[in-house]
Amino acid sequence: MNRFSKSKALNRPASNISARIPFGLRGHQLLSIEEAPRGLACDCLCPACGAQLVAKKGARHAHHFAHYRGSACPDALETGLHLKAKEVFERLRRVAVPAVCLYRQTTPVFEAQLLRFDRVRLEQHLGKVVPDIVLESGSKRLLIEIGVSHHSGKEKIRKLKKLGLSAIEIDALAIYRQLIRDFGQFRATAFEQELVQGLEHKRWLFNDKQQRIEYKLRRQSAERPAQHRYFKGFHSYIVPGCPLEKRRWRSGFREGECYASLWQDCLYCHRCFEVIYERAVAGFEEVAQHPVGVRCWGHLPLPRAVGWASSI
Ligand SMILES: [Zn+2]
Repeated sequence: MNRFSKSKALNRPASNISARIPFGLRGHQLLSIEEAPRGLACDCLCPACGAQLVAKKGARHAHHFAHYRGSACPDALETGLHLKAKEVFERLRRVAVPAVCLYRQTTPVFEAQLLRFDRVRLEQHLGKVVPDIVLESGSKRLLIEIGVSHHSGKEKIRKLKKLGLSAIEIDALAIYRQLIRDFGQFRATAFEQELVQGLEHKRWLFNDKQQRIEYKLRRQSAERPAQHRYFKGFHSYIVPGCPLEKRRWRSGFREGECYASLWQDCLYCHRCFEVIYERAVAGFEEVAQHPVGVRCWGHLPLPRAVGWASSI
């Protein structure tokens, strides 16, 4: 099937997609649209508001449930995808997680891998966070957030960091949209497959092992002072003794020695943690003045890629 042979319904805007519900509740069982008979015979209720649903399985649109009376139910899609994801992880207890890269690095320290667990807990309080799903095995623990309409913000990531809990976020809505795009229909099995095995719509909110490695690197990193330089009408800052040998003096009394230009090299360097500024109090807050140095780990060997060792 080429992209032109798909029906028009597939290219409709996202707002239309979210009005379609892929799951209905029959008793306590979550029924996907494929399993339900057409029309009111589906005997399903909306997972969000509990209203009666009708299964629309026509030829024009992707098959979906809709409210029998009224349609303003913004949470139906989100609740349905949430419930399904919880049901899948509770049953399968395994999940593929993306590779872990250190700050500003592109070579992963941990490869993407499939993790297996023994226990599942849903909506359980852990300190100040209430993750959607917690997978546990021995002392290993992974939190899974199912993102549909709102995604985890900085505040949540800060809490996870404080508690040292590794967590991934899965964008369930993106998976749903991709299925509709690829197949023209919602397929529960493909959704399940993508939730568990897929990597495209997952991201690390926080990884504890990554933080530990970075913390260690930071402790071993060096603070290299920067020097102001005024040359031919231009101000610049140079960091003498760059371990990565970014630049070299071509002449003068420092000929042959290495240095780096703070703005042109260090600011974007893969081995630079931060630029350190002189600080001054202006009003009620501290503001950065001129740079005084960089925190650099260029002299350390790259952390050995642990590869297939467990990333949590
Ligand atoms: Zn509803």
